Amino acid sequence: MGNKKNKKKQQPQEESQADRSRRQQREAKRNAEEHEFLDNEIAAEQMKRADAATFPLNVPKDLAFFKKYPKIELHAHLTGSLSPKTISEIVEHDEEKAKNIVSRYRLTEPIDMDKVFHRFKAVEEILDNPDSLRIAVIRTIREFSEDGCLYLELRTTPKKTATMDYEKYIRTVCRAIIEARMLHPHMKIFLIISLNRNMTFDIATEILHYTGVVQQESNVIVGMDLGGDPKLSAFQLLDVLYIARRFHGLGITAHIAEKRTIPNDTTDLLMMKPDRVGHGTFLHTNDHLAQVFGRSNSLLEVCISSNVYTKSYNHPRRSHFAFWKKRGVPIAICTDDKGIFPNASLSEEYYKAADEFNLSLEDLKKINLDALKYSFANKYIATDLSEIRRKIEMHTLE
Ligand SMILES: [Zn+2]
Repeated sequence: MGNKKNKKKQQPQEESQADRSRRQQREAKRNAEEHEFLDNEIAAEQMKRADAATFPLNVPKDLAFFKKYPKIELHAHLTGSLSPKTISEIVEHDEEKAKNIVSRYRLTEPIDMDKVFHRFKAVEEILDNPDSLRIAVIRTIREFSEDGCLYLELRTTPKKTATMDYEKYIRTVCRAIIEARMLHPHMKIFLIISLNRNMTFDIATEILHYTGVVQQESNVIVGMDLGGDPKLSAFQLLDVLYIARRFHGLGITAHIAEKRTIPNDTTDLLMMKPDRVGHGTFLHTNDHLAQVFGRSNSLLEVCISSNVYTKSYNHPRRSHFAFWKKRGVPIAICTDDKGIFPNASLSEEYYKAADEFNLSLEDLKKINLDALKYSFANKYIATDLSEIRRKIEMHTLE
């Protein structure tokens, strides 16, 4: 600024009429250019706001749209979410080995649910050490990030291996999540510890103990899940889930009614009023259970591709999604196991739901806001989700 003033002072005292006129023209032109630039900037900003306000009500039916759409993932199993690329990296690019694992892991067509559980074993073999487990967590989170996921709750069942006990397994996953948070600062990432229906009370209690210890040390674990073989009742684990919620402050989600033959612990699990229910695929086929669930104020985690690939129904349009949406039950769109089921990324799951059930942007916004409301981070720990809420409101990743 000072220099400009000096320059003005140094102008010749006796400027001819013609020079003055030329100088004034030059200044006027420069002012006009500056104003035009600012006017354009303001106009662009106004256009952007107007666009956001009059965003089309109908959702474009193309995947590219959903890749850029802000998304929430509440139901993703770590060991079911490994991509062929991640598997290749874990086996240090031994392509023959990677190919063999992928062929035993990834489905090409729907199969009976009982056979799907064997698929997890193919990757559990290579996730038996902390290094591989770390790569699996970090790469999987990266893929969710690249797919436009803003909030992710990853879940995993702690395992004992030759190099890890339950505590080391939980610590390794938590550390990898903390590492991934630094790589993807725009995302909120948390962990749910899963219990398996076939676990004994003692093993589940041991896992809960280490969950509590690590939970106290890091702000990563937010919930406990009940999963595994849906034919088995899990009465022995009800107390563990109760303690997890009551004394550890963890969110509770449970895989319920995944098969047409519903195990006899289902009423008890629903009476616990879990915060969320995984699948609940056949709840609506039983009047009593439908009533109990309808009154439970739980959110339903719906995984459409998973249900099709495990032959729960033969087409996305037969999903229970519409039944519960019509009754106002909060729903989250989730992937379950994007590594095992083909074309089951989070974008693809949003796309399928929008396409089959003709969802509007208002519907998608409600689904996302419900998912955020029922997220365990929102419920049990103090974390600021306002930035994610803003992106959902504006339908943007930016
Ligand atoms: Zn699941």
